[in-house]
Amino acid sequence: MKAHDGMYIDGEWRPATGPDVIEVVNPADEQVIGRVPAGTAEDVDLAVRAALAALPAWAATAPAERAARLAALRDVLAARKDEIAETVTAELGSPLKFSQNVHAAVPVAVAGSYAELAATHPFEEKVGNSTVHLEPVGVVAAITPWNYPLHQIVAKVAPALAAGCTVVLKPAEDTPLVAQLFAEAVHEAGVPAGVFNLVTGLGPVAGQALAEHPGVDLVSFTGSTAVGRQIGATAGAALKKVALELGGKSANVILPSADLAKAVNVGVANVMSNSGQTCSAWTRMLVHRDQYEEAVELAAAAAAKYGERIGPVVNAKQQARVRGYIEKGVAEGARLVAGGPESPRDQGYFVAPTVFADVTSEMTIAQEEIFGPVLSILRYEDEEDALRIANGTVYGLAGAVWAGEEAEAVAFARRMDTGQVDINGGRFNPLAPFGGYKQSGVGRELGSHGLTEYLQTKSLQF
Ligand code: NAP
Ligand code: MG
Repeated sequence: MKAHDGMYIDGEWRPATGPDVIEVVNPADEQVIGRVPAGTAEDVDLAVRAALAALPAWAATAPAERAARLAALRDVLAARKDEIAETVTAELGSPLKFSQNVHAAVPVAVAGSYAELAATHPFEEKVGNSTVHLEPVGVVAAITPWNYPLHQIVAKVAPALAAGCTVVLKPAEDTPLVAQLFAEAVHEAGVPAGVFNLVTGLGPVAGQALAEHPGVDLVSFTGSTAVGRQIGATAGAALKKVALELGGKSANVILPSADLAKAVNVGVANVMSNSGQTCSAWTRMLVHRDQYEEAVELAAAAAAKYGERIGPVVNAKQQARVRGYIEKGVAEGARLVAGGPESPRDQGYFVAPTVFADVTSEMTIAQEEIFGPVLSILRYEDEEDALRIANGTVYGLAGAVWAGEEAEAVAFARRMDTGQVDINGGRFNPLAPFGGYKQSGVGRELGSHGLTEYLQTKSLQF
């Protein structure tokens, strides 16, 4: 795989200041596929300085011109979609078809949505005797995870650039190659030097230096709750703005009037796709007691079928972590009906699609984010019981409700403590705000709500 041995700073690839490198591993066969530099605090400082220097001119650039650069970026991402899909498959391990349909395609849609929003968003409004200007917050630190490696970059960088902010990106150490490809695309799109900068490196070194840098005005982070908490505390101490997209433990609520087979099959596919490494995955399926055994049988069969198509998880550490949760589920008394802790293959970080029945809300596997292909099926007595279980975690990122009538599902969804709910298998909408209630995060991404995160208001009174 193609890899740059430098950092993309101030419009060019520059040698890293330190000697350390990160080896990028293909999780499907455990082979090293490339090396990228491991950035230091010095690299981060150079990148933030470049972003600071570029800020006044970019902030003053007409929204129409910012929109034109984003449209060009969308076109480059679309033109290079095959290379993007192959790169994500190589460093994340997802099946090529999923990489094409999701990892490569969604960023094109999101970049396109911000090209349009940059052109049409009202960056000025009248309120009585005031004119309110929506101005960029400044220099953005974007710290991203590996599970949707390009999507999470674009979901931060595109709105930041649309708003007139400049950016320093620290991508996940496991998936830096698609981040380098993104930097090439930004360059090709004619975005001025210093507006976007990339520092590859380790979280506790480059990531932490970036989050702490006094030149940064807003830290936008997606990843684990533990690191998010630390970034929130650091940003709070420095009075920096922060956006955190953290974990989830979303409920898939199947009401008795629903099409059970459809709800179960879509629910299993939702959890198993991307090898369960989706923060919004519906990892808890809630089924009425009268339909429970039928749902368990359907889910076990669907998971077994999924087994042939599943990719590995991202690395050995995640594989061990997921297997640890499966063992814990067994130890706490849940009934294993598909999969299990043994790796289905000799090579690669594979985990078998796993389904647990007889899971109760207190169990660890019903409370903690596993981030692997593991589904828990919980039994409820009535609608109030279902609601109590659905809302009974510290998280509130997403969810699903299935019912015979849409209105019945909507009424239930309105009582869920969560940021997004899919009604009867509703489709992904790149303009809908995405983000968490409770400990799932702070702030929203995507669409106009995502753009607003990168803007601050200035009121002029007349
Ligand atoms: P993570 O460590 O939180 O990684 C997210 C990003 O933060 C990466 O770029 C990471 O760099 C960086 N980072 C790590 N420590 C940092 C620090 N002290 N200061 C600043 N940045 C730092 O997540 P992970 O270890 O990859 O995954 C662990 C668990 O997090 C998963 O099992 C899952 O439960 C959850 N997770 C959630 C999401 C989500 O979409 N909400 C995404 C991924 C993971 P490195 O890549 O070098 O670590
Ligand atoms: Mg980490």
